[in-house]
Amino acid sequence: MKVKNLMMVSAIGITTMIYSCKSDNKQGTAPDAENFEVVCDEFADLEILRYQIPGFEELTPKQKELAYYLYEAANSGRDIIYDQKYKQNLTIRRTLEAIFNSYTGEKNDTDWKAFETYAKRVWFSNGIHHHYSNLKFIPECTVDYFKGIVKASDESLLPLDGRTVDVFLAEMLPIIFDPNVDAKIVNLASGIDNVKASVNNFYEGVTQGEVESYYASKMKKDDAQPISWGLNSKMIKENGVVVEKVWKIGGMYSSAIEKIVYWLEKAVTVAENEKQQKALSLLVSYYKTGDLKTWDEYNIAWVADVDSRLDVVNGFIEVYGDAIGKRASFESVVSMKDMEATKRIAAIAKEAQWFEDNSPIAAEHKKKEVKGITAKVITVIQEAGDAAPSTPIGINLPNANWIRQQHGSKSVSLSNIVRSYNIVSAKSPMLKEFAENEAQIERAKKYGALAGDLHTDMHEVIGHASGQINKGVGDPDLTLKNYASTLEEARADLVALYYVLDPKLIEMGVMPSLDCGKAEFDGYIMNGLITQLTRLNIGENLEEAHMRNRQLNAKWAYEMGKKDNVIEFVKRGDKTYVRVNDYDKLRSLFGQLLKEIQRIKSEGDYLAATALVEGYGVKVDQALLREVKARFVKLNVAAYKGFIQPKLTPVMEGNVMIDVKVEYPNDFKANQLELGKKYSFLPNKN
Ligand SMILES: [Zn+2]
Repeated sequence: MKVKNLMMVSAIGITTMIYSCKSDNKQGTAPDAENFEVVCDEFADLEILRYQIPGFEELTPKQKELAYYLYEAANSGRDIIYDQKYKQNLTIRRTLEAIFNSYTGEKNDTDWKAFETYAKRVWFSNGIHHHYSNLKFIPECTVDYFKGIVKASDESLLPLDGRTVDVFLAEMLPIIFDPNVDAKIVNLASGIDNVKASVNNFYEGVTQGEVESYYASKMKKDDAQPISWGLNSKMIKENGVVVEKVWKIGGMYSSAIEKIVYWLEKAVTVAENEKQQKALSLLVSYYKTGDLKTWDEYNIAWVADVDSRLDVVNGFIEVYGDAIGKRASFESVVSMKDMEATKRIAAIAKEAQWFEDNSPIAAEHKKKEVKGITAKVITVIQEAGDAAPSTPIGINLPNANWIRQQHGSKSVSLSNIVRSYNIVSAKSPMLKEFAENEAQIERAKKYGALAGDLHTDMHEVIGHASGQINKGVGDPDLTLKNYASTLEEARADLVALYYVLDPKLIEMGVMPSLDCGKAEFDGYIMNGLITQLTRLNIGENLEEAHMRNRQLNAKWAYEMGKKDNVIEFVKRGDKTYVRVNDYDKLRSLFGQLLKEIQRIKSEGDYLAATALVEGYGVKVDQALLREVKARFVKLNVAAYKGFIQPKLTPVMEGNVMIDVKVEYPNDFKANQLELGKKYSFLPNKN
């Protein structure tokens, strides 16, 4: 599971000099921490940032070598996420690359600029659908202009697959320019066939009913160690029969997976210890066989490896991209332990049993024994696939509930990513525009960054890890289906919210004052009811699981606390604000909702899940949305942020790697074109 950035509100505080990337500094130098340029590029609703890898120099040559192999393994899967999201994405990306690499015409006019913006958006979203809203976006240059630059490009570079350029264009133009063709990657609307209505490349020619009955027949009742069926395959119909095309060596995506395995096998030879070596070896064998039992064994071995300084997530991990939550997107995060910051999260992990025992959930839904939650703060070295350029700020894995219960889980917070966000947030005008009063602003400035860190820590360490499912009730993806992700995120957020106002945190020495908790409440409510709307277009409702969960939590608490005026909408002029009047009552409302959502998960109550998510988490007040958008546009702030990844290069002495050099590229376009050249392993169609 992932935690995404709440954006601006909860992270205000660190002030550092930021120089604009537009100044002509040398590409790829390694700047010192003080003068490091965080912001690199801005286009559409996006901002491109960079992060540094503090501490990399402390690693031993062998650890650096390991980091390098894992870095290559991560990037080797880059094509996979494009193809998983939509089967035309690789063809389109390669068309854009062909234009950049061969078109020599005019590049100063508005049409070219519009084309370039489109290309950057495609790179940012790993495809032609918006990374957050899942809706297709359209180039702002004309169709004729696009046609012209394709025709003026080197034909041999175009992904024609045997077609003439004219036939190719006739087929591709509607896919790129017609908003009604394949409009939405994931469609979570209720009462429809969510599989058919989603255009991701996880299914072809099958209905949701066929998918569900296929897996129902595989599932063993009361299986204590259920396999994550469907996690690593595409499902299609062949000669009238439903079959899986497994992502493995010799199967679908083989040519990219072979490269991943090539680098992982090198990583095995320089692993830090036996546990890490065992985990990496199991991962290799999983990629070779596609056997999901091996995947579970790998995860168990991975959870057991807690002593290594370096760590990696690499595989088909998160299921947000599949409307029915079975098939997982490729992603990789290569990291090293942040020794200092790990102390804070470790303090929370140490008290995990106390938090579980004192939770407002029903006694029968509590874990009697919270097992092995390993929490640490990591410094990211490289992200790829679904984790880049848009990145989570926290990760909690593995996702299989039974492994979490029987073997524990690893929970991490991504410190250098958060630091870059904080640097940018410190300059954001959002708080001044949307905060209701000076006290909110003061608290946010004083405690916002820490409050955000504590929320993330608790969301991951004691949030996702808490509670248990009743005996005989299936996993939430089976019982709660399209609402499973939203409710799981809501649950983890509620645990964090409930405890962020608990004096226990002060006692533990991780929070200086309850005002820090209040800052988190202010920020969460403001974001859930107002500021996250800046991410939507007029007319839209909420789709994305994290956004749904935040509105669900905030709106439910608003409605339930209405009679006591716990949360109040304040109107000044034509501007709407929101204020928390009673923090203690709000805390107890969060506790009640947590109890109910845990009950829904524990009992697999789909009807209650539907009522809760559809009732509070989906619909948006369009008048408020119009107002918020108008205020937001004036601020000139990008709604979403993502990152250019650092570049690692080995330093060789003969056959021996004696060092690894880190560079921080600052040109998003050049960086993406380079990745496209170096890691293009899959055919256009898979
Ligand atoms: Zn989460």
